[in-house]
Amino acid sequence: MKQIHRITRTDQSHWVGDGFPVRTLFSYNTPDAEISPFLMLDYAGPTMFPPAAKPKGVGFHPHRGFETVTILYQGEIEHRDTAGNGGLIGPGDVQWMTAGKGLLHEEMHSVAFTRQGGTFEAIQLWVNLPAKYKMIDPHYQSITDNRIPMVKLDEEGSVLRIIAGHYQGVKGPANTYTPVNLWDLRLQANHTVELTFPEGYTTILFNLKGSVKINNSTTMGDTELAFFERLGKTISLTALKNSTLLVMNGEPINEPIVGYGPFVMNTQEEIRQAIEDLDTSILSYS
Ligand code: MN
Repeated sequence: MKQIHRITRTDQSHWVGDGFPVRTLFSYNTPDAEISPFLMLDYAGPTMFPPAAKPKGVGFHPHRGFETVTILYQGEIEHRDTAGNGGLIGPGDVQWMTAGKGLLHEEMHSVAFTRQGGTFEAIQLWVNLPAKYKMIDPHYQSITDNRIPMVKLDEEGSVLRIIAGHYQGVKGPANTYTPVNLWDLRLQANHTVELTFPEGYTTILFNLKGSVKINNSTTMGDTELAFFERLGKTISLTALKNSTLLVMNGEPINEPIVGYGPFVMNTQEEIRQAIEDLDTSILSYS
Protein backbone atom coordinates (compact mmCIF):
# COMPACT_ATOMS: atom_id res chain seq x y z
CA MET A 1 0.00 0.00 0.00
CA LYS A 2 1.07 3.54 -0.73
CA GLN A 3 0.90 5.61 2.46
CA ILE A 4 -0.65 9.08 2.63
CA HIS A 5 1.94 11.79 3.15
CA ARG A 6 -0.64 14.42 4.04
CA ILE A 7 -4.11 15.74 3.26
CA THR A 8 -4.53 19.45 2.67
CA ARG A 9 -7.35 21.84 2.02
CA THR A 10 -7.30 25.42 0.73
CA ASP A 11 -10.30 27.67 1.15
CA GLN A 12 -8.57 30.91 0.16
CA SER A 13 -9.46 31.99 -3.36
CA HIS A 14 -8.37 34.75 -5.70
CA TRP A 15 -9.50 35.94 -9.12
CA VAL A 16 -7.50 35.18 -12.23
CA GLY A 17 -8.60 38.07 -14.43
CA ASP A 18 -12.33 38.66 -13.89
CA GLY A 19 -13.43 35.21 -15.06
CA PHE A 20 -11.83 32.62 -12.83
CA PRO A 21 -12.26 32.50 -9.05
CA VAL A 22 -9.52 29.99 -8.26
CA ARG A 23 -8.10 28.20 -5.29
CA THR A 24 -4.42 27.37 -5.78
CA LEU A 25 -4.32 23.91 -4.24
CA PHE A 26 -0.60 23.34 -4.58
CA SER A 27 2.36 25.04 -6.16
CA TYR A 28 6.09 24.53 -6.49
CA ASN A 29 6.48 27.17 -3.78
CA THR A 30 4.75 24.93 -1.24
CA PRO A 31 7.44 23.86 1.28
CA ASP A 32 8.58 20.22 1.00
CA ALA A 33 5.92 19.48 -1.58
CA GLU A 34 6.90 16.39 -3.54
CA ILE A 35 4.89 17.37 -6.59
CA SER A 36 7.28 17.09 -9.54
CA PRO A 37 6.60 16.81 -12.50
CA PHE A 38 3.55 18.91 -11.56
CA LEU A 39 4.05 22.57 -10.74
CA MET A 40 0.70 23.99 -9.76
CA LEU A 41 -2.99 23.15 -9.50
CA ASP A 42 -5.70 25.82 -9.73
CA TYR A 43 -9.33 24.89 -9.14
CA ALA A 44 -11.94 27.34 -10.43
CA GLY A 45 -15.45 27.08 -9.15
CA PRO A 46 -18.03 25.79 -9.22
CA THR A 47 -19.23 29.40 -9.51
CA MET A 48 -22.48 30.73 -10.94
CA PHE A 49 -22.15 33.49 -13.55
CA PRO A 50 -25.33 35.37 -14.54
CA PRO A 51 -25.90 36.02 -18.26
CA ALA A 52 -23.75 38.92 -19.50
CA ALA A 53 -22.88 40.75 -22.70
CA LYS A 54 -19.09 40.90 -22.40
CA PRO A 55 -16.97 37.75 -21.87
CA LYS A 56 -15.03 37.61 -18.63
CA GLY A 57 -11.64 35.98 -18.34
CA VAL A 58 -7.97 36.73 -18.38
CA GLY A 59 -6.40 38.86 -21.11
CA PHE A 60 -3.16 38.30 -22.99
CA HIS A 61 -0.35 36.93 -20.82
CA PRO A 62 2.78 34.87 -21.49
CA HIS A 63 3.99 31.41 -20.47
CA ARG A 64 7.38 29.75 -20.88
CA GLY A 65 9.02 26.51 -19.82
CA PHE A 66 6.10 24.21 -18.99
CA GLU A 67 2.65 22.96 -20.04
CA THR A 68 -0.80 24.12 -18.94
CA VAL A 69 -3.50 21.46 -18.84
CA THR A 70 -7.03 22.87 -18.73
CA ILE A 71 -9.81 20.45 -17.77
CA LEU A 72 -13.37 21.70 -18.17
CA TYR A 73 -16.15 20.33 -15.95
CA GLN A 74 -18.85 22.97 -16.45
CA GLY A 75 -19.01 26.07 -18.65
CA GLU A 76 -16.90 26.88 -21.69
CA ILE A 77 -13.59 28.65 -22.35
CA GLU A 78 -12.55 30.38 -25.53
CA HIS A 79 -8.81 30.40 -26.02
CA ARG A 80 -6.76 32.58 -28.38
CA ASP A 81 -3.04 33.25 -28.82
CA THR A 82 -1.09 35.91 -30.69
CA ALA A 83 -0.03 33.40 -33.37
CA GLY A 84 -3.66 33.04 -34.41
CA ASN A 85 -4.43 29.71 -32.72
CA GLY A 86 -7.67 29.46 -30.84
CA GLY A 87 -10.64 27.34 -29.98
CA LEU A 88 -13.29 26.31 -27.51
CA ILE A 89 -12.85 24.07 -24.47
CA GLY A 90 -16.18 22.64 -23.26
CA PRO A 91 -17.35 20.21 -20.57
CA GLY A 92 -15.36 16.97 -20.69
CA ASP A 93 -12.68 18.52 -22.92
CA VAL A 94 -9.04 18.96 -22.06
CA GLN A 95 -6.60 21.39 -23.60
CA TRP A 96 -2.97 20.34 -23.20
CA MET A 97 -0.88 23.37 -24.09
CA THR A 98 2.89 23.08 -24.36
CA ALA A 99 4.12 26.64 -23.87
CA GLY A 100 7.74 25.66 -24.56
CA LYS A 101 9.78 28.75 -25.45
CA GLY A 102 6.71 30.87 -25.07
CA LEU A 103 3.48 32.34 -26.25
CA LEU A 104 1.00 35.02 -25.33
CA HIS A 105 -2.59 33.97 -24.95
CA GLU A 106 -5.93 34.90 -23.48
CA GLU A 107 -8.40 32.59 -21.75
CA MET A 108 -11.99 33.86 -21.68
CA HIS A 109 -15.49 32.57 -21.06
CA SER A 110 -16.91 31.68 -24.46
CA VAL A 111 -19.43 34.03 -26.06
CA ALA A 112 -22.19 31.39 -25.79
CA PHE A 113 -21.50 30.69 -22.11
CA THR A 114 -21.35 34.43 -21.38
CA ARG A 115 -24.77 35.04 -22.96
CA GLN A 116 -26.43 32.05 -21.32
CA GLY A 117 -24.70 32.26 -17.96
CA GLY A 118 -24.41 29.22 -15.75
CA THR A 119 -22.03 27.34 -13.53
CA PHE A 120 -18.35 27.40 -14.33
CA GLU A 121 -15.98 24.73 -13.04
CA ALA A 122 -12.50 23.97 -14.34
CA ILE A 123 -9.02 22.88 -13.35
CA GLN A 124 -5.72 24.14 -14.63
CA LEU A 125 -2.74 21.91 -13.90
CA TRP A 126 0.78 23.04 -14.74
CA VAL A 127 3.14 20.26 -15.81
CA ASN A 128 6.86 20.95 -15.88
CA LEU A 129 9.04 20.33 -18.94
CA PRO A 130 12.51 18.85 -18.58
CA ALA A 131 15.30 21.36 -19.30
CA LYS A 132 15.94 19.96 -22.79
CA TYR A 133 12.33 20.65 -23.86
CA LYS A 134 11.72 24.02 -22.17
CA MET A 135 12.53 26.01 -25.33
CA ILE A 136 10.69 23.90 -27.91
CA ASP A 137 8.08 25.52 -30.16
CA PRO A 138 4.70 26.01 -28.48
CA HIS A 139 1.90 23.69 -29.52
CA TYR A 140 -1.50 22.40 -28.46
CA GLN A 141 -3.33 19.14 -28.01
CA SER A 142 -7.08 19.80 -28.16
CA ILE A 143 -8.44 16.69 -26.53
CA THR A 144 -12.19 16.59 -26.89
CA ASP A 145 -14.41 14.59 -24.55
CA ASN A 146 -15.09 11.90 -27.18
CA ARG A 147 -11.36 11.18 -27.60
CA ILE A 148 -10.83 10.34 -23.92
CA PRO A 149 -11.21 6.59 -23.32
CA MET A 150 -13.40 5.59 -20.42
CA VAL A 151 -12.90 2.38 -18.46
CA LYS A 152 -16.04 1.07 -16.74
CA LEU A 153 -15.30 0.14 -13.12
CA ASP A 154 -18.72 -1.29 -12.20
CA GLU A 155 -22.29 -1.53 -13.45
CA GLU A 156 -23.47 1.51 -11.48
CA GLY A 157 -21.60 4.20 -13.38
CA SER A 158 -18.15 4.31 -11.80
CA VAL A 159 -15.70 5.17 -14.57
CA LEU A 160 -12.09 6.17 -15.07
CA ARG A 161 -11.33 8.50 -17.98
CA ILE A 162 -7.73 8.38 -19.16
CA ILE A 163 -6.50 11.81 -20.23
CA ALA A 164 -2.81 10.83 -20.19
CA GLY A 165 -0.86 7.69 -19.43
CA HIS A 166 -2.59 4.36 -19.18
CA TYR A 167 -4.83 2.29 -16.95
CA GLN A 168 -5.17 -1.49 -17.31
CA GLY A 169 -3.68 -1.39 -20.79
CA VAL A 170 -5.89 1.45 -22.05
CA LYS A 171 -3.91 4.46 -23.22
CA GLY A 172 -4.95 8.12 -22.96
CA PRO A 173 -4.64 10.51 -25.94
CA ALA A 174 -2.28 13.14 -24.47
CA ASN A 175 1.36 13.01 -25.50
CA THR A 176 3.63 13.94 -22.62
CA TYR A 177 7.37 14.75 -22.43
CA THR A 178 7.88 12.73 -19.24
CA PRO A 179 5.70 9.84 -17.99
CA VAL A 180 2.41 11.22 -16.63
CA ASN A 181 -0.84 9.50 -15.69
CA LEU A 182 -3.76 11.92 -15.52
CA TRP A 183 -7.13 10.32 -14.85
CA ASP A 184 -10.65 11.68 -14.26
CA LEU A 185 -12.22 9.23 -11.79
CA ARG A 186 -15.96 9.09 -11.05
CA LEU A 187 -16.73 6.69 -8.22
CA GLN A 188 -20.26 5.77 -7.17
CA ALA A 189 -21.09 5.58 -3.44
CA ASN A 190 -20.03 2.34 -1.74
CA HIS A 191 -17.79 1.29 -4.61
CA THR A 192 -14.10 0.51 -4.22
CA VAL A 193 -11.32 0.77 -6.76
CA GLU A 194 -7.68 -0.21 -6.44
CA LEU A 195 -5.24 1.95 -8.36
CA THR A 196 -1.70 0.82 -9.09
CA PHE A 197 1.14 3.18 -9.93
CA PRO A 198 4.81 2.84 -10.82
CA GLU A 199 7.03 2.85 -7.74
CA GLY A 200 8.83 6.17 -7.12
CA TYR A 201 6.37 8.41 -8.96
CA THR A 202 4.62 11.43 -7.44
CA THR A 203 0.96 10.70 -6.69
CA ILE A 204 -1.65 13.32 -5.78
CA LEU A 205 -5.43 12.97 -5.62
CA PHE A 206 -7.86 15.87 -5.71
CA ASN A 207 -11.42 15.26 -4.63
CA LEU A 208 -13.62 17.77 -6.48
CA LYS A 209 -16.77 16.52 -4.87
CA GLY A 210 -17.90 13.68 -2.67
CA SER A 211 -15.99 11.79 -0.04
CA VAL A 212 -13.69 8.78 -0.23
CA LYS A 213 -11.98 6.49 2.25
CA ILE A 214 -8.33 5.91 1.36
CA ASN A 215 -6.68 2.54 2.12
CA ASN A 216 -9.63 1.68 4.34
CA SER A 217 -8.46 4.17 6.95
CA THR A 218 -8.42 7.89 6.13
CA THR A 219 -11.38 9.88 4.82
CA MET A 220 -10.78 12.60 2.25
CA GLY A 221 -13.57 15.14 2.00
CA ASP A 222 -14.65 17.40 -0.78
CA THR A 223 -12.07 19.85 -2.23
CA GLU A 224 -9.29 18.12 -0.30
CA LEU A 225 -5.98 16.98 -1.75
CA ALA A 226 -4.11 13.85 -0.75
CA PHE A 227 -0.37 13.61 -1.31
CA PHE A 228 1.14 10.14 -1.20
CA GLU A 229 4.57 8.77 -0.37
CA ARG A 230 6.62 7.75 -3.40
CA LEU A 231 7.19 4.29 -1.96
CA GLY A 232 4.57 1.63 -2.57
CA LYS A 233 2.36 1.01 -5.57
CA THR A 234 -1.29 0.57 -4.66
CA ILE A 235 -4.01 2.84 -3.30
CA SER A 236 -7.53 1.68 -2.52
CA LEU A 237 -10.40 4.15 -2.67
CA THR A 238 -13.90 3.54 -1.37
CA ALA A 239 -16.50 6.18 -2.16
CA LEU A 240 -18.65 7.18 0.82
CA LYS A 241 -20.71 9.38 -1.54
CA ASN A 242 -20.71 9.74 -5.31
CA SER A 243 -17.28 11.28 -5.88
CA THR A 244 -15.32 13.01 -8.65
CA LEU A 245 -11.54 12.85 -8.37
CA LEU A 246 -8.55 13.93 -10.40
CA VAL A 247 -5.67 11.47 -10.20
CA MET A 248 -2.25 13.00 -10.85
CA ASN A 249 0.73 10.67 -11.11
CA GLY A 250 4.10 11.20 -12.76
CA GLU A 251 7.80 10.54 -12.80
CA PRO A 252 9.62 13.30 -10.89
CA ILE A 253 11.89 15.59 -12.92
CA ASN A 254 14.99 16.01 -10.78
CA GLU A 255 16.10 19.43 -12.00
CA PRO A 256 16.20 22.83 -10.29
CA ILE A 257 13.05 24.97 -10.54
CA VAL A 258 13.25 28.75 -10.78
CA GLY A 259 9.88 30.35 -11.39
CA TYR A 260 8.67 33.90 -11.84
CA GLY A 261 4.94 34.35 -12.47
CA PRO A 262 4.12 32.69 -15.79
CA PHE A 263 7.71 31.50 -16.42
CA VAL A 264 9.17 28.33 -14.93
CA MET A 265 12.79 27.64 -15.86
CA ASN A 266 15.90 26.08 -14.30
CA THR A 267 18.02 29.18 -13.58
CA GLN A 268 17.67 32.89 -12.70
CA GLU A 269 19.47 33.73 -15.95
CA GLU A 270 16.78 31.93 -17.96
CA ILE A 271 14.08 33.88 -16.08
CA ARG A 272 15.89 37.14 -16.83
CA GLN A 273 16.02 36.09 -20.49
CA ALA A 274 12.28 35.25 -20.51
CA ILE A 275 11.44 38.73 -19.18
CA GLU A 276 13.74 40.34 -21.77
CA ASP A 277 12.21 38.27 -24.59
CA LEU A 278 8.74 39.31 -23.46
CA ASP A 279 9.80 42.98 -23.52
CA THR A 280 11.13 42.59 -27.05
CA SER A 281 8.02 40.63 -28.06
CA ILE A 282 9.96 37.52 -29.05
CA LEU A 283 7.51 35.60 -26.88
CA SER A 284 4.64 36.63 -29.10
CA TYR A 285 6.58 35.60 -32.24
CA SER A 286 4.23 37.76 -34.24
MN1 MN B 1 -2.54 31.09 -19.36
